[in-house]
Amino acid sequence: MTYRAPLAEIGFTLKYGAALAGAIEEGLFGDLSLDEVDAVLSEAGRVAAEVIAPLNRVGDKYGASFKDGVVTTAPGWKEAYKTWRTGGWNGVAAPAEWGGQALPQTIAAACAEMLHSSSVAFADGPMLTMAAIDALDAHGSDALKRAYLEKLVSGEWMASMQLTEPQAGSDVGALRTRADRAGDGTYRLKGQKIFITYGEHDLTDNIIHLVLARLPDAPPGTRGISLFLVPKFLLNGDGTPGARNDIRAHSVEHKLGIHGSPTCTMILGDSGGAIGFLIGQENAGMACMFTMMNRARLHVGLQGVGVAECATQLAIAYARERKQGRIAGMKSAEMAPIIAHPDVRRMLLTMRALTNAARVICYTTAMAIDRAERSADETTRAKWHDQASLLTPVAKAFSTDIANEVTSLGVQVHGGMGYIEETGAAQLFRDARIAAIYEGTNGIQGIDLVTRKLPLKDGAVVAAHIGQLRGVVESLSASNDPGFGWSAVRLGDAVESLSRTTAWLLGRLDKEPDTALAGATPYLRLFALAIGGCLLAQEALAALRLGADAAARLAAARFFAENLAVQAGALERTVVEGASGVLGAEAALAS
Ligand SMILES: Cc1cc2nc3c(=O)[nH]c(=O)nc-3n(C[C@H](O)[C@H](O)[C@H](O)COP(=O)(O)OP(=O)(O)OC[C@H]3O[C@@H](n4cnc5c(N)ncnc54)[C@H](O)[C@@H]3O)c2cc1C
Repeated sequence: MTYRAPLAEIGFTLKYGAALAGAIEEGLFGDLSLDEVDAVLSEAGRVAAEVIAPLNRVGDKYGASFKDGVVTTAPGWKEAYKTWRTGGWNGVAAPAEWGGQALPQTIAAACAEMLHSSSVAFADGPMLTMAAIDALDAHGSDALKRAYLEKLVSGEWMASMQLTEPQAGSDVGALRTRADRAGDGTYRLKGQKIFITYGEHDLTDNIIHLVLARLPDAPPGTRGISLFLVPKFLLNGDGTPGARNDIRAHSVEHKLGIHGSPTCTMILGDSGGAIGFLIGQENAGMACMFTMMNRARLHVGLQGVGVAECATQLAIAYARERKQGRIAGMKSAEMAPIIAHPDVRRMLLTMRALTNAARVICYTTAMAIDRAERSADETTRAKWHDQASLLTPVAKAFSTDIANEVTSLGVQVHGGMGYIEETGAAQLFRDARIAAIYEGTNGIQGIDLVTRKLPLKDGAVVAAHIGQLRGVVESLSASNDPGFGWSAVRLGDAVESLSRTTAWLLGRLDKEPDTALAGATPYLRLFALAIGGCLLAQEALAALRLGADAAARLAAARFFAENLAVQAGALERTVVEGASGVLGAEAALAS
């Protein structure tokens, strides 16, 4: 069984979970219609399922090979990339000025989810290119935009994002790659970058590297970092690729998963210095890179959703076919499909509910970005910008954490066959693992949420968000639909746990920062359970209201509230009561 694009599920979550339908009705996206949305999703799903998904296994088996500085992608990948590129998929949300379709980020998010479902390793390259387009469009000079944006939007060229060095991983401020002013407005870069995704490959004629480096007179730490555009091939006067720049791949890594995605060690400046062009201002590179990273963080979250969706589909199909044991009332000679066993159902429902919750959180984050970009007045745009900032670390970390859990459950549902490569469940488990690590580890996302996002507007941004969640709980209570079971009570408890824990953390950030940091990861989970549960309930209420296939949505929302959101209370105690035990636990780590 291969991936099937879940168009009905994705479309409904987009329109009513993330409220795209309402935004279209109020005219946020001009004359865009719901029919056009459906047409885009359907074609994206076709390309993902029919063109790319069949090559995922090939990418895993052959990987990306390295010889004499040249990286060769797996058989069939070049052709698949050409199909993907000529379909215009790089430019779904890119500005029309550079050849993009300027569609909402929410639609781009749904397309990205399907691409990630089809192959995480393949999707990595386009994902970083889309993020680079955002950064260049937001911060690049007119000359740089004119020279590079059209080719990146069309996918004729791809981009890489280069932060990491051996001594500078989570601590980006420790990077040492050096950039010297050449005196003609350009810079010469020297240094080494590691773990660079699609740093070298054979899919495009040119690769546009976005590289963080430090000027000789830069202040220490992140305040002294600048962002440079370093093309693999410098451009001729007519804009075509010309002389080779002084940047090359030294090797590709052998990895646990995403074998098809080349992860390169890059050497800059072997022969005098790689020519770089400044993006934004000197020493202001982190702000520019954050534009790229924030977009990439949401897309890595969508990677989590995509791979979790694929694992869930695979596991449900297997559980319907595989027969073992009996259930009450069966004839003794018969064996039941394992989906009939309550414990297997619990695993499958956990997979489905976590995946749906991560999806609606990611799409809601994308909608906040759309409103931050397109709302009519500055105050409203700023309000949505804050919402997007608050939600981005949750979307990234929760979706990729659950991708690890869901793909692991996927292996479990398959039993011994899950551990054998041919089912595909094992590859999904291996491919999912990286998403919680790159684009800022999930630990760093928790820290970002607690130390930077909770204090936004003195806590008013998170307070407003919690207020919205209370509104959903009230609607749920008011619905009085018995199909929701205990959902309203359990979600109400989760939201109040979130509210109390938020206040507790905000009260400690200044005086006891370590106490707050000790609870950052469980707090992020608590946040996600409360918001995920409420958004699923809201979606189920919409389905009931519209008379649209409500049973599946209601069942998933109820399962989430009664079986997963109930963990919120325990997480509250973990944060509030457990912190001192974390900080005072030296003895347990002594050996
Ligand atoms: C396959 C792959 C592809 C990648 N692609 C790219 C790419 O395209 N471009 C790029 O620039 N980089 C890329 N990376 C690098 C990736 O972003 C880093 O690996 C990641 O940011 C973590 O850095 P590190 O590996 O140095 O781990 P460390 O920073 O050494 O972290 C180790 C552990 O310590 C924790 N930790 C570290 N600091 C803190 C802290 N202050 N507080 C709490 N916990 C902390 C981390 O959460 C983690 O659990 C890639 C990595 C891989 C493996």
